[in-house]
Amino acid sequence: MTESKLSIVDLTKRYAAGLDPAVDRLNMEVEEGHLVALLGPSGCGKTTTLRMVAGLMDPTAGSIVVDGKEITHTPVNKRGMGMVFQSYALFPHMNVEQNVAFGLQMRQTSKSEQKRRVAGALDMVQLGHLSKRQVKELSGGQQQRIALARALVVEPTLLLLDEPLSNLDAKLRETMRTEIRSIQQRTRATTLFVTHDQDEALDMADRIAVMNGGLIEQFGSPTDVYERPRTRFVANFIGQANFLNARVLSESGSAARGETHYRVSIDGLGQFGAVGAPGLTGSAHELVIRPHRLRVSLQPAGTETIAGVIERVNYTGDALSVAVKAGDRVLQAQMPTSSGDLPRTGDAAYLSWNEQDAYLLPTPVKEP
Ligand code: ATP
Repeated sequence: MTESKLSIVDLTKRYAAGLDPAVDRLNMEVEEGHLVALLGPSGCGKTTTLRMVAGLMDPTAGSIVVDGKEITHTPVNKRGMGMVFQSYALFPHMNVEQNVAFGLQMRQTSKSEQKRRVAGALDMVQLGHLSKRQVKELSGGQQQRIALARALVVEPTLLLLDEPLSNLDAKLRETMRTEIRSIQQRTRATTLFVTHDQDEALDMADRIAVMNGGLIEQFGSPTDVYERPRTRFVANFIGQANFLNARVLSESGSAARGETHYRVSIDGLGQFGAVGAPGLTGSAHELVIRPHRLRVSLQPAGTETIAGVIERVNYTGDALSVAVKAGDRVLQAQMPTSSGDLPRTGDAAYLSWNEQDAYLLPTPVKEP
């Protein structure tokens, strides 16, 4: 096995005695060259984790290892990390070139080397032509890119980004996502990226650490956490999900990715196909189905459908979401839009799915 670029071992932060830990024995391995998103709701401990990795805050317990060397208590200026925070915090009295050169000056890099590397970093963010501009004469997106150039110019051991896009408007945020990702891939800078925006994480990251209450609930690729959430929290936090209580009846063969096909029974609705980890037996598990993976038919369509009534229709031009009431449950589904008649509240609807799109969460539902 290759050695990780960054290992975080049982990292814990308690801000004060008597308080719950903000980060609670967190473990994570980051591969060289990967961009890892720390994703989770407000207060789950993302920033606290990043600040401990940066050396801006002392952990209460645990360790941080970079390139096989423990740096848990190494001072921030000896860690060689590049950081970009929410507010880009450029030095307002310096021009672009001086801002980017700052870290190199601190390291007493020679003048000629500084010049070469600053030019290289500015080219990287495509702002070489603005090198003499004052910071206040730059747009938000340009300032953001300069902050990135300033972090990258020192060839950091790790690049740490804390919600760097949150001050930008929606359009620019999309553009900057692509830019940051492509710069990160070109420089192969191992990067930790804090965000609470699931689209941003899915779009940019090699791996996502979904955090909740100071812990990582799941660490995996974007498709892992989206398609195969390990917990209800993860399924809910990353995109929309329908949850149905399903009792496992029998196995019906092996599925792709080492998973198993199951027959399940959903109370009052009948028997259906689903997939899940091997070895699930007897008990009730939550079945996760993404709204866009539910097929909606307005006519009865074969067996293994859930019959219901359309309760609500939301039309946004490129998408049509419908809420379908079936018994005492309401399921969210999506339909292709067309210029024809829209389905209406009160219409009958029949829901079905491909077996591999209905995923049983691995932990059984706690029964009363
Ligand atoms: P956000 O997305 O809102 O920035 P976050 O996931 O980055 O949230 P943290 O800032 O790491 O969360 O905070 C984690 C927990 O620690 C929260 O409950 C927060 O209230 C608490 N906390 C953060 N800083 C301090 C502090 N200086 N003193 C006491 N508690 C703190």
